[in-house]
Amino acid sequence: MTDTATDTTGTAELLSELRAWLGSNWDPDLTVAEWWERLGLAGWAAPGLPVGAYGKAMARSDVVLVQQEIAKFGALGPPAGLGLLLAAPTIATHGTQEQIDHYVRDIVTGQKAWCQLFSEPQAGSDLAGLQTRAVKDGDEWVVNGQKVWTSGGQYADLGMLLARTDPEVPKHQGISYFAFDMLQGGVDVRPLKEMTGHALFNEVFITDARVADSALIGGVNNGWAAANTTLMNERAGLGSGGGNTAGGGLAQPGTVLGFLGKRVGDLVAPAPIAAGNGDGDGGARATRPQQTGGAGALGAMRGGASMLIGLAQSRGVNTDPGIRQDLARLYTLGELGRFNGLRVKAAKEKGGDIPGMPNVAKLSMSQIVRLTRDLGLRIAGPAGMLHAYDVDDKAALKHATGDPFAGGVTEMALFAQAPPIYGGTDQVQRNIIGERVLGLPKEPSNDRVTPFSHLPKNA
Ligand SMILES: Cc1cc2nc3c(=O)[nH]c(=O)nc-3n(C[C@H](O)[C@H](O)[C@H](O)COP(=O)(O)OP(=O)(O)OC[C@H]3O[C@@H](n4cnc5c(N)ncnc54)[C@H](O)[C@@H]3O)c2cc1C
Repeated sequence: MTDTATDTTGTAELLSELRAWLGSNWDPDLTVAEWWERLGLAGWAAPGLPVGAYGKAMARSDVVLVQQEIAKFGALGPPAGLGLLLAAPTIATHGTQEQIDHYVRDIVTGQKAWCQLFSEPQAGSDLAGLQTRAVKDGDEWVVNGQKVWTSGGQYADLGMLLARTDPEVPKHQGISYFAFDMLQGGVDVRPLKEMTGHALFNEVFITDARVADSALIGGVNNGWAAANTTLMNERAGLGSGGGNTAGGGLAQPGTVLGFLGKRVGDLVAPAPIAAGNGDGDGGARATRPQQTGGAGALGAMRGGASMLIGLAQSRGVNTDPGIRQDLARLYTLGELGRFNGLRVKAAKEKGGDIPGMPNVAKLSMSQIVRLTRDLGLRIAGPAGMLHAYDVDDKAALKHATGDPFAGGVTEMALFAQAPPIYGGTDQVQRNIIGERVLGLPKEPSNDRVTPFSHLPKNA
């Protein structure tokens, strides 16, 4: 990335302020908790959040630059994960100041890790069809139901819970959004192992669990609005190359994984796995190890062009015209994403926006992921048929193929099916662009007028 391509005066000033701040605050002998407290309270952990919510109201494209600058300095990045990416901006938008000071503070300082309790076995794309119930009991709610696909649920302190609080109104109007304690009786988290060999997500069974009224975000039956804020941040964050999820190095937030008391200098992320080629993607950094299988693969996909150029060179296929063309295509898609980020930033600086851009960004990310998978396997050749699942086998594979990147390519290929699904599938993104941006007619449905309790349901 060239400075001239990205540095507006404001951005350059902020980055120089950041460098000065890092110079006087980074200390590898602090604990992770102490470092994240400094970073978070200074507004550098999540600079995209509003000023009154532990942020600096920076554009998403600048947030990525901040994360890169912290990495370049050699300091540990912000507490990565769904708390920073999704819960914090949602609570900053729909929560009270008291909730911001409680929940968002714990997120930006890494004290608490979050998961997203949205999807259910019968409610994925049709999220508003969810059936988990929350029933009022004094100043608490009693929750019963089942969630699925819950990424990082096994390491989370809190969950963004969507539950039905009124089944007698149309489905979008009877949902509430809670900050839900995952570490209580009545919450059974069962990891699901994927073909990557990792257990990125879980099923979560909730039986008579409790959540306080004070943990209701955005008011009773107003959860759909809050959920949409979460989803928009998810799409924009995934599409922008990580957004707030990037940069946590080897440390993870929250009380479960036990990183908070460790020496921070021991947990700074290693250098990217391939030399940068100036493609502006921040290199092949792992992003969300709690979603690994996962995150390492997705991080590598974001650094796809850099990594695959290195792989093509090492395999001697970098002169193959077809491979060169697809490498150029991959690089171009990355650059288009970066330019779109800059367009959104410029529009927002003028008080406007570009409708549908988070959906476009997410679709483009799916395209990058698929191309990276296909191109990677073509470059790897027969070695792409081999995959190792544990450390010893990975070493043996590396030895047998003589290729340090081979395992990474198959890891990406196995994981490539996931990004086009999570955060809303490609088809759902296209529906949203069609209906909400282009103004095309919605599919005929009585969902918006019929009480949820009267709608037909799957078993
Ligand atoms: C790796 C991974 C991590 C995830 N993490 C989380 C998480 O942490 N928390 C969470 O709550 N969820 C999570 N999800 C769930 C994800 O958001 C859902 O899988 C997604 O919303 C799709 O829902 P579904 O799987 O039930 O598929 P369905 O909704 O059953 O869809 C099946 C197919 O039908 C298509 N389809 C559905 N409706 C339409 C329509 N109206 N028009 C056109 N096509 C349609 C879909 O595109 C898809 O191809 C994760 C998913 C994955 C893969």
